[in-house]
Amino acid sequence: MPLHIRCGLTHIACCCLFLLGIMISPPQTLGEELSREAVVSRVRSDIEFFASDDQEGRGLETKGIERSAERIMAEYQKFGLLPGMPEGSYRQPFEVTLGDVVISEVSRVKLTAPNGSTMDLKLGDEYQPIRRGKNSAATGGLVFLGYGITSEEDAYDDYADIDVEGKIVVVIRREPQSYDGGAFKGTATTSNAYIDRKLELMSKAKAAAVLFVNDFASCPTPEKDELATPSSFGNDGDTLPFAHVKQAVVDRILAATPLKTSDGSSFSSLREVEQYIDTNLKPVSQELTGWSADVVTKFQANTVIAYNLIGIIEGEGPLSDETIVIGGHYDHLGFGGFGSRTPNRRGEIHNGADDNASGTAAVVELARRIASGPKPRRRMVFICFSGEERGLIGSNYYVKHPVIPLADTVAMLNFDMIGNLKNNVVEVNGVGSAMEFRNIALNADNATPINITIIDSAFAGSDHLPFYQKGIPVMFCFTGMTSIYHTPDDDFKTLNIEGAVSVIDYSEQLLRRIDELEKPPTFVSAQPRNRRAAVRSPYLGIQPDLAASGTEGIVIRSVREDSPAAASGLQTGDVIISVGETKVEGYQTLIETLIAAKPGDKLKVTFKRGDEEKQTEVTLGEPRR
Ligand SMILES: [Zn+2]
Repeated sequence: MPLHIRCGLTHIACCCLFLLGIMISPPQTLGEELSREAVVSRVRSDIEFFASDDQEGRGLETKGIERSAERIMAEYQKFGLLPGMPEGSYRQPFEVTLGDVVISEVSRVKLTAPNGSTMDLKLGDEYQPIRRGKNSAATGGLVFLGYGITSEEDAYDDYADIDVEGKIVVVIRREPQSYDGGAFKGTATTSNAYIDRKLELMSKAKAAAVLFVNDFASCPTPEKDELATPSSFGNDGDTLPFAHVKQAVVDRILAATPLKTSDGSSFSSLREVEQYIDTNLKPVSQELTGWSADVVTKFQANTVIAYNLIGIIEGEGPLSDETIVIGGHYDHLGFGGFGSRTPNRRGEIHNGADDNASGTAAVVELARRIASGPKPRRRMVFICFSGEERGLIGSNYYVKHPVIPLADTVAMLNFDMIGNLKNNVVEVNGVGSAMEFRNIALNADNATPINITIIDSAFAGSDHLPFYQKGIPVMFCFTGMTSIYHTPDDDFKTLNIEGAVSVIDYSEQLLRRIDELEKPPTFVSAQPRNRRAAVRSPYLGIQPDLAASGTEGIVIRSVREDSPAAASGLQTGDVIISVGETKVEGYQTLIETLIAAKPGDKLKVTFKRGDEEKQTEVTLGEPRR
C-alpha cells in the first residue's frame, strides 16, 4: 500500500508542504553563502518552532509531533533531499507500544462472602489490575497467605501447612520486621520482598490469582495506602492474575471471617495479623472459609505508529556508495508521565527545547549545508528519529530496517541535547569507536572557535548506540546535563542558540572530514567493563537515564518498587552524585562501586533533587536472580 494513502497525505497536501517549505526558512539558493546572522536566525526559528507549545512536547500520541514532522519534511523537500523510503516518502513507519492499558469494561474483582453476599470492588479506587501478573482471569476460594514468603535463612515459611493450588491468595507487600535488628536483614530489603520473587513462589504453588495488599509498616494510614499503577512493577508478566487491593477491603473480609491461630489468637483486621506475624515471626496462612473471588485483570496493548524521517543526499565519485548517517531524535515526552522527572507535573507540556529540539535543528541545518555546498563524496542520510524517549525504538528499528545497507554505512553522527553550550565546550562522545576519529575531532576543533571534551566511550543512551552495537563508528555531540532535563521547564528561553550554531559549525567540520577520508573509518569496539560482574552486584533498584547521565552524576529514570533505592527515598529525577566515598562520574563508576560492595552494606548516597543537594542511606539488597 503506497505510504501516502496510509499516512493520509494526498498529493495536494504534498504540494502544500512544498509551499510551506518555501515560507519556513529564509530563501537561500543552493550554494549561496549565508551570513552568520541568517544562519543563527534560521536555526533559532527551527528550535523555537519545535519547542513551542503547539508541538505539545512532541509526545508520540500528540498532534504536535505530526506538525514537527511536517516541518522537517518540508525542509528536506526544499533542499532537495531524496525521500528515504522506496515508495517515495520520507516517513519510515514503525509501531511503538506505549504500555498496556487496563480494559476497564471487563476487568473485575468480585468477592463472595460465606453468606452469599458479594462485593464488586471499584476499579482504581478499591482495586487495581497490575500488569506484572497475567493478562487473564481466575475464580477460586480465598486463602490468607501472609507475606507469601519462604525463607530458610529466616526459618520462615508462609507456604508451610497450606495448599494454595487453584486458590486466590491474599498476600501482604514487603516483608516482616523491617526495623533495625529485625529478621530478614532488618531495614535492608531482601529478595524475599521482591514482587517477582513472590509471584514466582505463588506460581510454583499453582495459586490461581493474587490479591496484593500494602503492609501497614510502610502504609500505616488510609492516605498512605495507595494502589500501585498498572505498570508500576513492569509492563509485562505471565504468572497469575494480579490485583492490588486496598487494606480496607481485606479488613472487611477479616471482620467477617477472623483469622485464628493454634495458640488461640484471633485477628479481625490486617493490622492485627501483621503485628502478630511481625512479633512472633510465625505465619498465619489459612483458608478464608466460605469466601471466593472472581479476579479478571485484562489489558490491551496501547500502540501508536511513529515515524523516522529520512532524507538522502547522494554522493559523487568512487566513494558514493559509502554512506554516513546524520541523526537526532525529534520526539519528546509530550504532557509528561513516562520518562518525566517530575511525575507530579503530569499534564504540563514538556517542550524539550534542549532535548531534543536542538539536535533536530542540527540535523536539518546540516542537511541544508550539505545540500547547499559542494557535493559530498559519500551518500549522506539524514534521519530524525522517533521513539527515542521510549528506549531508542526508532533508531533500533532503523538498524533492523536500514534504507541503505548497514554494510555500506561507514559512520554515524548523533545530536542529542546541544542547546546548553557552557564555557564554549561541547562533549564529543564515541571518539574511541574509530581509529581516525581522534584526529578528526581535534582537527575540526582547531578549525572552529569551539572547544571540545573528548570521550572515547560510545556507551550513552541515545540514537547512536544501535549503530555502534552494529559495529559502525559513531560520534555523539552533547552539551551536558541540566537540572531542567525531562521536566516541563526545558523551554526555548533557557537555550544558548549561538552555542547550538557553534556546535553545528563544529559538526559540519566533523562530517566533511569524515567524508574526506580515502578509506572508511576503522571501527574499534570497546565493551563496557565488568558486564557480568555487574549482574551479580548487590541490588540497588534504580534504572539510570544513560542519555542524561555523565560526569555530573547518574540521573534516575525510574526507581523499582520495593527496592533498596525505594526504601531510601530516592526518586525519579534525582541525580546521584556520590555513593559512599566515591564520586559517581558515569554509570560505569556506579556499577564498579556496587560490585565492590556486598548485600546489607549501608552506603551514604549524595544526590541532587532539582537544585538541592541531599543525602540518604541505602542498605544494599541481595543480587536479583
Ligand atoms: Zn534526548
